[in-house]
Amino acid sequence: MAALGIFAQVKALRRFTVRAALPAPLAPLSELVMNLRWAWHTETTDLFAAVDPQLWQTVAGDPVRLLGEVSAERLDALARDGAFIAQLNAVHADLQGYLSEPRWYQSMAGVPGSIAYFSPEFGITEVLPQYSGGLGILAGDHLKAASDLGVPILGVGLLYHAGYFTQSLSPDGWQEEHYPSLDPNGLPLALLRNPDGTPLEISVGLPDGQTLGAQIWQAQVGRVPLLLMDADIESNDPSIRAITDRLYGGGAEHRLRQELLLGIGGVRAVRAYCHLTGAVEPEVYHTNEGHAGFQGLERIRELVAGAGLSFDDALQAVRAGTVFTTHTPVPAGIDRFPRTLIEHTFGGDNASPGVPVDRILALGAEDDPGVFNMAHMGLRLGQRANGVSKLHGHVSREMFSALWPGFGSVDVPISSVTNGVHAPSWVAREITELLGVGPQSTWEIVGELPADRLWAIRRELRGRLVDEVRRRVHHSMVHRGHTEAELGWVQNVFDPDVLTIGFARRVPSYKRLTMMLRDPARLRAMLTDPERPIQIVIAGKSHPADEGGKHLIQQMVQFADDPAVRNRIVFLPDYDIGMAQFLYAGCDVWLNNPLRPLEACGTSGMKSALNGGLNLSIRDGWWDEMYDGGNGWAIPTADGIADPDRRDDLEAAAFYDLVEQHVRARFYDRGADGVPKSWIDMVRHTLKSLGPLVQATRMVRDYVEELYTPAGAAAGRLAASSYEGARELAGWYGRIRAGWDSVRVAHVDASGTGDTPQLGASMHLRAEVVLGPLSPSDVTVQACYGRVDATEELHDVTCVEMSHTGDGDEFTIFDGDVPLQRAGAFGYTVRVLPRHELLSSSAEPGLVVLAS
Ligand SMILES: *Cc1c(COP(=O)(O)O)cnc(C)c1O
Repeated sequence: MAALGIFAQVKALRRFTVRAALPAPLAPLSELVMNLRWAWHTETTDLFAAVDPQLWQTVAGDPVRLLGEVSAERLDALARDGAFIAQLNAVHADLQGYLSEPRWYQSMAGVPGSIAYFSPEFGITEVLPQYSGGLGILAGDHLKAASDLGVPILGVGLLYHAGYFTQSLSPDGWQEEHYPSLDPNGLPLALLRNPDGTPLEISVGLPDGQTLGAQIWQAQVGRVPLLLMDADIESNDPSIRAITDRLYGGGAEHRLRQELLLGIGGVRAVRAYCHLTGAVEPEVYHTNEGHAGFQGLERIRELVAGAGLSFDDALQAVRAGTVFTTHTPVPAGIDRFPRTLIEHTFGGDNASPGVPVDRILALGAEDDPGVFNMAHMGLRLGQRANGVSKLHGHVSREMFSALWPGFGSVDVPISSVTNGVHAPSWVAREITELLGVGPQSTWEIVGELPADRLWAIRRELRGRLVDEVRRRVHHSMVHRGHTEAELGWVQNVFDPDVLTIGFARRVPSYKRLTMMLRDPARLRAMLTDPERPIQIVIAGKSHPADEGGKHLIQQMVQFADDPAVRNRIVFLPDYDIGMAQFLYAGCDVWLNNPLRPLEACGTSGMKSALNGGLNLSIRDGWWDEMYDGGNGWAIPTADGIADPDRRDDLEAAAFYDLVEQHVRARFYDRGADGVPKSWIDMVRHTLKSLGPLVQATRMVRDYVEELYTPAGAAAGRLAASSYEGARELAGWYGRIRAGWDSVRVAHVDASGTGDTPQLGASMHLRAEVVLGPLSPSDVTVQACYGRVDATEELHDVTCVEMSHTGDGDEFTIFDGDVPLQRAGAFGYTVRVLPRHELLSSSAEPGLVVLAS
């Protein structure tokens, strides 16, 4: 045994995973393991469990490990087990059907042939830990829903050798970070190889003569391939091999190098993949947040080098096919680099011919001249942009309105598509079975479900969460230095019949992890109430560089360590997809108390709702648009209050009031049969009202219809006849920009209202417009009207297009009618905007002239 002791001190130089050779009848197993559809398909995981039920527990649901560790004898026995082979073949046939059947997208006309989807993180399963939080989970759900709908998406990301980090707690409750070394061969990934068997590699030039090479791992997410680039290859310098070490680690230069690989390398990986497999080249490029923004520069470079376009022509061609999604209104969440770093990276010996560094710098320009802003570049490189909830769309239009000077924020061309979640991944099996698998009828039947059945399932899911909480608390307490003898109390942590509130998410300050601790005595009283207690489960990782976040975690942990409450409130370390599934299924109430409006959407509450959990949340993000008064509770926001302490006090007090007076009352108000009828009514209403709205299939359909299809059409028109459209549009832009200074509204006449304008009448406007070198077809002239305030500012503005009715020597005449639909102070003006049929909106060029 001494020898083992010594080996335990020695770290392996490299680790690798040996996979068992499967007997022929079991061959379909490897495709089932390698296709991540198992992450949302219980029949497939049932099959994995049947391979070796004991081992399946040990490997914690990781099928690659299962196949790596299952004994050869067991495999031989299975190969001779007729029932197992029949189950295997049925599940395999089901996968083949899923991969090949026409689905929703195949019934759509005029849709793009392929869409590339870039994201710095993808959360698909806990077995592939390549995510830190909501952005990555959303990207994973996007791919899964695209697969279910048959949308031909190609995912593009990076493979991080340590993922994000795993979290544990020190004895005094401080977050500890661990960076596991993941072996890609032990993950459900396949290395892309050339026909001669060598790894397919791409490379990206770096300044100072260095080159960043990468190999490409493919994950298969149902029908959707996901390419993950990996810089850890022999031919790279050691410092370059470390570029894909971990997610969101390192300083600005490290991050920039990751983003160069993601954006520029990503486009090269897409080209190499399509060349290798014959897959259709993407027509649309969707970037999930700004991190992948350099993809646009690479596509411009390709067009300049390959199709002989000028930078301006190529810019138009690229913009038309690009969709940019912004995900955060938090300034610290926006990705920015020192301008000098960008200059150094894209200039000098690393400059690309035809892609001048000053043009690149202009794409990322912001208020601060020393800063390059990736979100601004995303908006300038994408003809279409969106936020991720209605409220966030609104906030984004205001936040980025400086890019469209002269426009009101309503005109800023940023739309919104509200996020959704992939139900098959997040809904507990019992709920799915209860609701049936039929796609249409599901939510309609909710009203007829017997209350006692629904309640019995909710209790079962809560009970399962309680077991998981105890297991995890025990594990964490042992890690924090407690001995078995001290941990008897853990058996009594949580109670399967107590109202259970969940709060789990990343720990940036705006999410206010510790708001519930504002009045600790009041919280303690609710936790220990002898009649109607609550219990709270909390989880979340703080970014390793965020000391403030770690202090919040410590505060929470120390509160929960108190023997007086430790059986009713727990902090579970290492929040991930695996833990999340227990939480969403088992919690009765999902709490969210961000500082409005900083939560762009939020998705955990959607996952809770689909399991019959009730949301208790500040009206921010998705909850602002989907709360209907009866499908949960809204914590009133004090967002007008400038003093943050007072605001927290007010909002925390509102939270305590709601729990004490409404939530507990409903939960503990039982009929003779022990069922809380009015609670179950609210659960039913939640499922029915939110079920159809919060799903990722709804979100992906919205993206297809509102963004991908128009982007694909625009890109196609600009690319046709060797990019004739792109040249024409770029030429038009040049002409408009050069002539715009001479445009003005010389005079506006109003008539038709008499001395006392009457409600319901209409007013006729005639505008004399100076167009200088531009022609009437280059512009749209609009009459804009609305309520007017004491400062002559217009509100609730509506704009109607005026018609070109005459040409004078100096002026062009435009006429239009304005309806007087509202009594009271009314104002109007006239404005001129550029017009071109290939623009997504007249605001797009950011040029406007107002009558003055
Ligand atoms: C859904 C989810 C998130 C995102 O939750 P938000 O409510 O958007 O903060 C983060 N992490 C995991 C593991 C999730 O499942």
